[in-house]
Amino acid sequence: MMDVIFDRGTFLPDCDLWLDPRGTRPFVFVSHAHSDHTGHHQRTILTDATARFMLARLGSSGKVQHVLRYGEGRDFGAFRATLLPAGHVLGSAQILIEKGGERLLYTGDFKLRPGLSSEPAESVQADTLIMETTFGHPKYLFPPAAKTIGRIHAFCRETLAGGAVPVLLGYSLGKAQEVLSALAGAGFPLMLHGSIWQMTQLYEGLGVVFPPYSRFEPEQVEGHVLICPPATTSSAMLENIHKKRVAMITGWGIDERAIDRYQCDEVFPLSDHADYSELLEMVDLVKPSRVYTLHGFADEFARDLRRRGIDSWSLTGGNQMEFPILE
Ligand SMILES: [Zn+2]
Repeated sequence: MMDVIFDRGTFLPDCDLWLDPRGTRPFVFVSHAHSDHTGHHQRTILTDATARFMLARLGSSGKVQHVLRYGEGRDFGAFRATLLPAGHVLGSAQILIEKGGERLLYTGDFKLRPGLSSEPAESVQADTLIMETTFGHPKYLFPPAAKTIGRIHAFCRETLAGGAVPVLLGYSLGKAQEVLSALAGAGFPLMLHGSIWQMTQLYEGLGVVFPPYSRFEPEQVEGHVLICPPATTSSAMLENIHKKRVAMITGWGIDERAIDRYQCDEVFPLSDHADYSELLEMVDLVKPSRVYTLHGFADEFARDLRRRGIDSWSLTGGNQMEFPILE
């Protein structure tokens, strides 16, 4: 079986390939362009969308880029690589590595529920599955997205009716566009923070269609639904909006303490990650003989799989910080 090593990123020594490492590495698969998965690398394997997002956010998407379409297999000497959609954000990919008759699938961040602004995830069978397990605890079962979206609409409607600005917090790449799509047809005037506006323009360049929106203007924000990244919560930008109600959009909203933790008025559990049932479903679909877990409840999920008779181990060991801003 192919060796799998973890050192601030997953490394496949038989392929000399890193999977989403931090820092700078010689040869890397970048699953998507969230900052905890990207770096200034020498050679990268990635999708066109991820390359565009990385260029906009980091100024570089690797000195040498191997841009692959979904489903397109490519030989890299020691191994053959095929990318599959991961359903996490636009352009997010899983990588299937084939070497000497053995198959290894690395999911990166993924979800199986269809989203509104990203490609639906796919799956394949593999001998080894390396999967993210952010929500790998049975308490994380998300309600249907349509129900959560209905609650977000009601929050916006009631806040506007009360003469306040509804502020929805979601990270700039992926979550904000999902929220924007979820507000299509509701008739709210929509305004986007600059960083979200920039990423949304890139999405549109890649063919995604959104409802009409404008870029944040302090003098004109009244009467609009404002979408901002979570980091703006204590910024002057929001401080200067005197009458507002703030909602965080995150899968961690399942937790009863989430409103206190995020110090906002509401938390809505809309996530770009798989919930516990989808993590189990992914394992059922891939039918691996060996599983490695990464991120979040990696230990717990690996233990749950072992109880189901699957050879499964956490690569990172221990829970990562609860309530991260980036999911
Ligand atoms: Zn991510």
